Amino acid sequence: MSKIIQSIRGMNDLLPTQTPLWRHVETTLRTVLETYGYQEIRTPLLEATELFSRSIGEVTDIVEKEMFSFTDRNGDSLTLRPEGTACCVRAGIEHSLFYNQVQRLWYMGPMFRHERPQQGRYRQFHQIGAEAYGLSGSDIDAEIIAMTARCWRQLGLSDLQLQINSLGSIAARAAYRSQLVSYLSDHPNQLDEDSQRRLHTNPLRILDSKNPNMQELVTNAPQLLDYLDGESQAHFANLKQLLEQLGISYQINPRLVRGLDYYNRTVFEWVTPHLGGQGTICAGGRYDTLVEQIGGKPTPAIGFAIGIERLTLLLAPTEHHLDNSAPHAYLILVGEAAISQGFRLAEGLRDTLPQLRLLTHCGGGKFKNQFKQADKSGARLAIVIGEEEIIQQQVTIKHLREEKPQIRLPQTEVSGYLKTALGNFTGIN
Ligand code: ATP
Ligand code: MG
Repeated sequence: MSKIIQSIRGMNDLLPTQTPLWRHVETTLRTVLETYGYQEIRTPLLEATELFSRSIGEVTDIVEKEMFSFTDRNGDSLTLRPEGTACCVRAGIEHSLFYNQVQRLWYMGPMFRHERPQQGRYRQFHQIGAEAYGLSGSDIDAEIIAMTARCWRQLGLSDLQLQINSLGSIAARAAYRSQLVSYLSDHPNQLDEDSQRRLHTNPLRILDSKNPNMQELVTNAPQLLDYLDGESQAHFANLKQLLEQLGISYQINPRLVRGLDYYNRTVFEWVTPHLGGQGTICAGGRYDTLVEQIGGKPTPAIGFAIGIERLTLLLAPTEHHLDNSAPHAYLILVGEAAISQGFRLAEGLRDTLPQLRLLTHCGGGKFKNQFKQADKSGARLAIVIGEEEIIQQQVTIKHLREEKPQIRLPQTEVSGYLKTALGNFTGIN
């Protein structure tokens, strides 16, 4: 026998037992974003590698070691997108979405990063994200954060914690950077290998280190918040005030710098205590210089991305999600002659009741066996056509989940019967 082919490490199949919960999460989040006026954008999974190295930053985890890049048949370097923001910016510039107008966009789909797979960290994972372009005030920052808070409420998640920080302006960051480099250079023995390399290329990223041995050094480092320029200070103060007025509690985390280079001013994360090192469920921030950096006109922007796998790990599937996909009715067809009559009936029912989930038995077999399968399917009703029913153009209806007597009906009356019988719990009308 030939070797069994398996899925690629860190890339998961989502099986029918999982998709109902995923669809619930996706629909809930999409609905919240759309009620705030965000419109969907879909961009290709493959982009020019340069898009990501120029935006995310050459000296970041993602670009240095996590991208799935390859050279195509033309010799071009392409990359499976590791995140959505750079793609939105590229598309927005290409289609002139940012000229003299505000854009609120959302996207959803798979992202790819070559990381060490573990719970909550995969090589293909899914994000739903939103981006607002053309607004520079702290009002949109607060609205975006309020929108994410509403997402958690709608999903019934109550213990996510909001962390915020401000990275200030580019100039303020540069001043802070030299202070940080001189502090870190004073403690060369406490720097791990990654940090030694980053000391002169991207020292701020050292603050984001996940290495426990580095925590003391990082905790005592000078704080970015003490170096903020006046405008960034005012922006941050306004944001905090708005969040307080909205009743959204937050924690200021001075070491929150985010793993991507393009952020300035507001950055935020929503974290859970339940997923260890994979506790960040949602991360975002302002990136006022990125559009220009990629070749567009200066356009202020802010956005975030939510990791869907991490969210689903926090949500146990409930009966409610699973019920959504069970068929309403199962059509049992006993004998060759029942097939053509049954198929015509089924197609007619689908014409009149477009919401009806009807599973037609295929493959023949004895009544008892078909009945077992009807029961297993989770359907509420079995509609039976056997020898007698064929002659009389009738069906027998059996209730599979309730103690009710079975009944005989003319085939012409089945759709009316289903409408009343199922209407109560499915909303079919
Ligand atoms: P982390 O610090 O956990 O590596 P990150 O800063 O690299 O996260 P972002 O690029 O900000 O993450 O992505 C936003 C969100 O997408 C994360 O908060 C997380 O929920 C999710 N995410 C990121 N990488 C992965 C991954 N490899 N597997 C699953 N989810 C991920
Ligand atoms: Mg990461």
